[in-house]
Amino acid sequence: MSRNNPAVGPPLDPGVSMLSARRRLALLLCAAPLALPAASTADDKADPKLLVEVQTGTLPIVIVAAHGGTEKIPGVPERMGVGVKQFATVRDVGTDKLAKAYAADVERQLGKKPWVVIAKYDRKFVDANRAADQAYEVKEAKAYYDAYHVPLVAALKAVKEKHGNGILLDVHGQGKYPDALLRGTQNGKSVVLLRQRHGFAAVNGKNSILGRFERGGNKVLPRADAGEKAKEETGYTGGFAVANYGSHTGYGIDAIQLEIGTNYRSADNLAKTARDLADATVAFHDAYLKK
Ligand SMILES: [Zn+2]
Repeated sequence: MSRNNPAVGPPLDPGVSMLSARRRLALLLCAAPLALPAASTADDKADPKLLVEVQTGTLPIVIVAAHGGTEKIPGVPERMGVGVKQFATVRDVGTDKLAKAYAADVERQLGKKPWVVIAKYDRKFVDANRAADQAYEVKEAKAYYDAYHVPLVAALKAVKEKHGNGILLDVHGQGKYPDALLRGTQNGKSVVLLRQRHGFAAVNGKNSILGRFERGGNKVLPRADAGEKAKEETGYTGGFAVANYGSHTGYGIDAIQLEIGTNYRSADNLAKTARDLADATVAFHDAYLKK
């Protein structure tokens, strides 16, 4: 509001103390809305569902990303990690955007939606890829952890019920091999059903997700021609989601952790990486998931 606004008459002057009670009230009312946006933003983020992106799908494909989020969680302090195994707070930069672009490209190609769960909150506050007792440190954080895992479990159950089998793709980032994607299946455990049904070719062969991504000109470790006995990179064999939701568990959905190298997630390369992952996933879908 301007004092020179003709609607409220000519400037009277100077001191607020000289203003009539009515004008003082008008000033207060004008000032009040300025404070509202900050308050309403904090309120919005206080709804855990708004800090996790969820897409209900129709395909037997579930794409998730736990560690790319950048948002603070209101009322939840940064984790300290006391007594936590494998404590980490480092963000898997760009994996939120990558997972989203990857899912969108799968949808564009297949004309149906994959399921998507992406944490928008920063790992400093809640680590969505850990068991609950290692993931957060204050009770206020539980709802944010659950806002990731409840829809993820619902997706796995829906896929199992509707399709009988499916694939969980857990997108992460690593900097040890900037120009490579590291496979994490707990050395084959989390894809046991896939191997039983179709052999190891479904994990690393020409129509597998990893094999196809490699054939698209990208580097994958272990390499596609390394064979079934080749061990996955120590420390990158698959975390909580793969270990707890893979096909060796009651969920019965094969699960692969995709540890994407730094350079594959750079601003310049992210769209191509998403496209190559989608191409590979569509080839896998057509070879192994399509009925
Ligand atoms: Zn990660």
